[in-house]
Amino acid sequence: SGRWARVMAIVKEFEEKCGTPEGKLKQLADAMTVEMHAGLVSEGGSKLKMLISYVDNLPTGDEKGVFYALDLGGTNFRVLRVQLGGKEGGIVHQEFAEASIPPELMSGTSEALFDYIAEKLANFVDEEEQRFHQPPNRQRELGFTFSFPVMQTSINSGNLIRWTKGFSIDDAVGQDVVAGLTKALQRKGVEMRVAALVNDTIGTLAGGRYTNSDVAVAVILGTGSNAAYVERAQAIPKWHGPLPQSGEMVINMEWGNFRSSHLPLTEYDHGLDIESLNPGEQIFEKMISGMYLGEILRRVLLRLAEEASFFGDEVPPKLKIPFILRTPEMSAMHHDTSSDLRVVGSKLKDILEIPNTSLKTRRVVVQLCNIVATRGARLAASGVLGVLKKMGRDTLRDNGKKTVIAMDGGLYEHYTEYRECLENTLNELLGDETANSIAIEHSNDGSGIGAALLAASHSLYA
Ligand code: ADP
Ligand code: MG
Repeated sequence: SGRWARVMAIVKEFEEKCGTPEGKLKQLADAMTVEMHAGLVSEGGSKLKMLISYVDNLPTGDEKGVFYALDLGGTNFRVLRVQLGGKEGGIVHQEFAEASIPPELMSGTSEALFDYIAEKLANFVDEEEQRFHQPPNRQRELGFTFSFPVMQTSINSGNLIRWTKGFSIDDAVGQDVVAGLTKALQRKGVEMRVAALVNDTIGTLAGGRYTNSDVAVAVILGTGSNAAYVERAQAIPKWHGPLPQSGEMVINMEWGNFRSSHLPLTEYDHGLDIESLNPGEQIFEKMISGMYLGEILRRVLLRLAEEASFFGDEVPPKLKIPFILRTPEMSAMHHDTSSDLRVVGSKLKDILEIPNTSLKTRRVVVQLCNIVATRGARLAASGVLGVLKKMGRDTLRDNGKKTVIAMDGGLYEHYTEYRECLENTLNELLGDETANSIAIEHSNDGSGIGAALLAASHSLYA
């Protein structure tokens, strides 16, 4: 029928616009490398902030003692206690508590947000066993993983540049996040010093390095997306401080804000961006990360419903609600292996209140999941290639050494099709020989542990 022809035409057009042939991915990688250079030359020199982390030494394995971490950066936040055994002792003990951030706190005041966090930390510390107590005259020390763009002023201070990922607390912008947290800790009577302020990418890099000395890059694919890597201090013209003894500096790229004319943007991406809390910003993140993939899919489905009566004569009202279709649900539909696609059917029914979908309709939904996820994963792979190029690690190294990329985030962890596509694409881009020298490691919860490790290496008592 004409209706179905219209459906297929819209799907075909979308698929074409989302195309990511190898040549385009290589152009994107080159563009990423160019922007990395520009961002290192001067502040504001690029869409990529290339933030200096003040981390010039990654964990060695000698770190010792009980340290804390607080991981804030998306939907959930976690508090951790990590006991480090010192040389060859490894992680003796770790424990965490997790809580979700109430949505109203994501757009309230910074005081309310920090009070909420400090309260959870207070509970965590209050319930602590005697054996984890600090020795006399020693304050607890915390690594604070705060995964938003911050202009650091030292290892444990820095001002929020702007919010991303659905947060918008105006009074916090431009303020020192460590000062904000410290004041809340005082209000709640928590005896604790913030020893390190890091981004989740930096935490993941540190956590990854602790277990594998070849780790040199970290990538986050969760609610948002970002990357960090180890740069030569000499290659950072905008750094005017003393050259670190290690000769290295970890850079938080803030790659979510990458943008290039080579990106395969569609009308759905434009619509999502314009209606977002941060229009014009985080364009790369909006194409590849967990907060947005399901929303892109919803927008395509809405268009199909409106212009090709994809779900019948009426446009399902729920389909008009932004962000109602979350990426985990999309992932569940994409991975549906049943012959009648019953997972797809039940998701459409439960979330969008669309009953009795035909198999033909469900197949199109799976096809759309695949288009959105494939584009995201392949673009993420091109970003990784760009970083490897900047580091000179996109070809075999003379010393035969490996380069390991520590990856973390719920999207990477749980969306199998996405993860496999990313890994296959990176191998395709690198070519067989080089691909053998590059490995991706899942750094489970590396960002929290990494922050505790960095608190240890920046301890007052070390
Ligand atoms: P954050 O990025 O907020 O620190 P996580 O790393 O845990 O948190 O990532 C959470 C994100 O991962 C979710 O917002 C969601 O987009 C994505 N995600 C979680 N579970 C799944 C899943 N089963 N399939 C696909 N994506 C998922
Ligand atoms: Mg996280």
